Amino acid sequence: MTSLSSLRWTDVADLRDRLLVVPLGATEQHGPHLPLSTDTVIACELADAVGRERDDVVVAPAVPYGASGEHQAFDGTLSIGSAATELLLIELARSATETFRRVLFVSTHGGNAEAVRSAVQRLRAEGRDVRAWGPTWGGDAHAGTSETSVMLAIRPEQVGVDRLEPGATRPIRDLLPELQRDGVRGVSANGILGDATTASEEQGRTALRRATGELVAFVAGWPPVLTPTR
Ligand SMILES: [Zn+2]
Repeated sequence: MTSLSSLRWTDVADLRDRLLVVPLGATEQHGPHLPLSTDTVIACELADAVGRERDDVVVAPAVPYGASGEHQAFDGTLSIGSAATELLLIELARSATETFRRVLFVSTHGGNAEAVRSAVQRLRAEGRDVRAWGPTWGGDAHAGTSETSVMLAIRPEQVGVDRLEPGATRPIRDLLPELQRDGVRGVSANGILGDATTASEEQGRTALRRATGELVAFVAGWPPVLTPTR
């Protein structure tokens, strides 16, 4: 795997045709059992996986901040909001495309989705070959079975296994009006949307394998010519 942070600038001239993969995470509460870096850790894991799989990829240092306003009532959450996230991504990719022909954001935090979508739209309108991809775990929404399982698979030492709890277990669409009005704290005292007690390393490995396969397929299917997105 080629990691941008370990290269010298003189090494990079030969790598201009490669795809730069930028992990995009967040620093926000993930229940009483997962670290604030959870989204960033998972984004890096996925970016590294595609970096190991393909020799035409360079993995960039992660963006560890994003739009986490809905988690602000929990200590330790560091949010830069959606507008700043969008601008950060625009400027970062403008700079990155001065060297690299293609840039991919691997985005694991749902709260960044709108900023990522707008930034990519703007960048592509400027003629830059920038795309975004994010995993869909298919389970619960936040710090529950899905994310806890993935963390058990990749960073078991960082999971507080003696603190696994259920959180708000109603379907996310039912919670949405309250979530939008009161933030996560308004619907879940411990910050979990889902149930962390049903997590397992095995589920995490399966989910990670599937997500990595989807990401590798996404990169493999990247159209050779820049086409405008929706
Ligand atoms: Zn998360």
